[in-house]
Amino acid sequence: MALRKIRTIGDDILSKHCREVTELKHRQRVLIRDMLDTMYESQGVGLAAPQVGVLRQIIVIDVTEEGDSPIVLINPQILELSGEQTDQEACLSVPGKSGAVTRANYAKVKALNEKMEEVIIEGEGLLARALQHEIDHLSGVLYVSKVEGELLDVEKE
Ligand code: ZN
Repeated sequence: MALRKIRTIGDDILSKHCREVTELKHRQRVLIRDMLDTMYESQGVGLAAPQVGVLRQIIVIDVTEEGDSPIVLINPQILELSGEQTDQEACLSVPGKSGAVTRANYAKVKALNEKMEEVIIEGEGLLARALQHEIDHLSGVLYVSKVEGELLDVEKE
């Protein structure tokens, strides 16, 4: 298991656009493994490559309580959004904070999987929120720019 350092708000890399992945080389496979390890270790539900300092279009998500259903998406593109949900959102790159964000309640996303095969992922609720949040990271957007009202301090457990 290898953990990567999570970049935090204020780091320029978080506001940059990520490049597409055209070929999955060993280096990117290691990156994906490390991103999953880092996400689980930090008890996050998602992580995008720029959060660990790599400007590539790769995201990982796992919204299950068991934490045994990782979703790896390469070059993800939103095909469809519908409905609306407002809920507290947080980000491993904005430690100790959360804020209310309104997002679509349903998202349909096209991407490549770890075998570079095209996949379609559909999600509602938390999964739809995580998809939108992580895909935003790939174009340099943090949820804090979408927060309604105050960014709140989260109590440490
Ligand atoms: Zn985030």
